[in-house]
Amino acid sequence: MAVPSCPVCEVHTESVFRVEGMHCHDEVSLLERRLRHLTGFEDLSANVVTERLIVRHDAAQLSASAIADAVADTGMRAWLEADRPGAAARPRRAPYYCLGLSAAFLLAGAWLELSGGLPQLVAAACAVAIASGGTVTARKALGAVRARSLDINSLMLIAVLGAVLIGEWLEGATVVFLFALAQVLESRSMERARGAIRSLMDLAPVRALVRADAGERETGVEHVQIGEVIIVRPGERFPLDGRVVAGESEVNQAPLTGESLPVSKSGGDQVLAGTINGRGALDVEVTRAHQDTTIARIIDLVERAQSQRAPMQLLVDRFARRYTPAIIALAVALAVLPPLVAGAPAGTWFYRALVLLVMACPCALVISTPVSIVSALAGAARRGVLIKGGLHLERTAIVRCVAFDKTGTLTRGRLDVVDVVALDGRSPSTVLALAASLEMRAAHPIAHAIVRGARGRGLKVAPGEMVQSIPGMGAEGQVDGVQAVVGNHRLFHERGLCSPEIDMRLEELAARGRTAVLVASAGRTIGILGMTDLVRETGPSAIEELRRQGIERLVLLTGDNATTARVITRDLHLDEFRAELLPEDKLQAVAELRSRYGAVAMVGDGINDTPALAASDVGVAMGAAGSDAALETADIALMSDELRKLPFLVRLSRATRRTIVSNIIFSVAMKAGFLVLGVAGLATLWMAVVADMGASLLVVANGLRLRYLE
Ligand code: ADP
Ligand code: MG
Repeated sequence: MAVPSCPVCEVHTESVFRVEGMHCHDEVSLLERRLRHLTGFEDLSANVVTERLIVRHDAAQLSASAIADAVADTGMRAWLEADRPGAAARPRRAPYYCLGLSAAFLLAGAWLELSGGLPQLVAAACAVAIASGGTVTARKALGAVRARSLDINSLMLIAVLGAVLIGEWLEGATVVFLFALAQVLESRSMERARGAIRSLMDLAPVRALVRADAGERETGVEHVQIGEVIIVRPGERFPLDGRVVAGESEVNQAPLTGESLPVSKSGGDQVLAGTINGRGALDVEVTRAHQDTTIARIIDLVERAQSQRAPMQLLVDRFARRYTPAIIALAVALAVLPPLVAGAPAGTWFYRALVLLVMACPCALVISTPVSIVSALAGAARRGVLIKGGLHLERTAIVRCVAFDKTGTLTRGRLDVVDVVALDGRSPSTVLALAASLEMRAAHPIAHAIVRGARGRGLKVAPGEMVQSIPGMGAEGQVDGVQAVVGNHRLFHERGLCSPEIDMRLEELAARGRTAVLVASAGRTIGILGMTDLVRETGPSAIEELRRQGIERLVLLTGDNATTARVITRDLHLDEFRAELLPEDKLQAVAELRSRYGAVAMVGDGINDTPALAASDVGVAMGAAGSDAALETADIALMSDELRKLPFLVRLSRATRRTIVSNIIFSVAMKAGFLVLGVAGLATLWMAVVADMGASLLVVANGLRLRYLE
């Protein structure tokens, strides 16, 4: 997909390529070296796990196909993602045939040698084995050499040529075969990691049934306009985001939220691409173009998340960059010094140097971190948890304190007006209708409750004028030309609109677990609304599990009154609460908790708590499937309102850290051990290849396990 990043001049273009054969950090620097000199090239970023290469270039001077050609020079193959969106390289048969041929001739060579056949025959068989197993490696190696760098392929090539030079034909052929085998195995397991993301892309169908004047017509989703009506039949997946205009059905949102309880949908309800329609046919008015649907944005976020490098990975990369030259230098020294200085046999030390060369590529080490992170992120996404980068996962693993917002987070945020207290000689209907007029445009769950409450009681609600919201406190404006205010105790106290009688009434409501909102008109308080909100059912078990996981401090931060906060804190067994907080107070509270506990996670619904989400080490937003703002601001978004995803998140982050650390330790230990054996002359070339490639495969397999963590 070629995305012009500058809408005015449309010169800077970002082209996304799939690059076959880009498995290792070496190959990325090779590509960079090759592309850097092209006129019009700006920069690139690469992801070896997804094999995606993003090149920023000046399209006027450098075309995408010229880039693909330059990539081909290195022995890798590139094509624009747009040509085969999200497509995997079609599994190519050729590597398998070559591998088979190589194996056959290697066996023939080995048999000839054992049965005392002519050395020339052994060499001939091995030469065929080397040629058939090593062409790809040789092509890549030449590409690397042309770009003046040494990658794993060129190191292998040198090692094999070296072995042949000292007459070790069988050894050379074994190395070629094992290396080719390892490459095939590795590309297959990486394919599995990529599959994790592709399975997200497959969620939404690519065709839609559009209602047209003359019946209906089927078309690609990219041709459906916003505002058109599509038909979604029972059991089908929704191809686009939209609003139901006709029909009734139940929708399984599990693909997006990881929560499989069917949700009933009828006129006016929102439906999301990728979710599955139940038993009724629905007519849906499309509200978003196919590239802007929630699922498309999720995929985009997950992919971006994967190209972002976690700190651990940066460290590993820095080490890797020093490691290769160091080992090569050591190998050269080993080949030259002992024979020169101590008169040791040249052949022996030359061989030991070759063994070192085979181990000079830090592939297992470099791949271990990204593969773990990618599979953790993809696994989480499938469970409705959207993590915007490995960094956030790393931080979650060290969180010691979790702060919760109340309304919409610990409670369902679907309130009901249950008490209407009229004061100052007004009628309850007047009070409720006035409040609703001010709340019509507000996004707060309390505002929705008031408007719903008024409509439910058959009141006609007209929007007020010049209405402004007072974040974390309420709203004010004019209704029928009279200045009116609706909001919490704190707001009314500040405005001098309280009295001992009102305070008493509020206390009473709060003691019954109500969230109270005051209403004033023309400078006089005219009523109080009492609302109930239910604590989410999964709250207690989620909190309990977090505590079992060793989270030290669980805190409630709310804008609601202290009495309500105390009730929730007690019911959910939290450690402390802070009430009547404004959005900036919540931020302050998070900052203070951070200074006390180190890493703090803040969980909120994105309403009045975005500053606190941003100030925390890990900002977790609830219910992001519905809200754009939450999806944008948070580090981690829970697509469903499922509090139990929090312990899952903690579990996953810790497992990821464990996996990465054990992968790093394993691959470093393996290298160190073999280096010693190699120098001491106790390792053969083929053992080195098996150790090196085996380590890569084990590390990848270990990382892939994270996809299946529950
Ligand atoms: P919470 O921490 O419970 O999620 P918020 O910070 O979103 O609460 O809001 C804090 C308090 O501010 C609410 O309990 C309510 O009393 C008041 N409030 C906020 N917005 C509104 C509004 N639109 N109408 C009335 N009251 C509001
Ligand atoms: Mg809230």
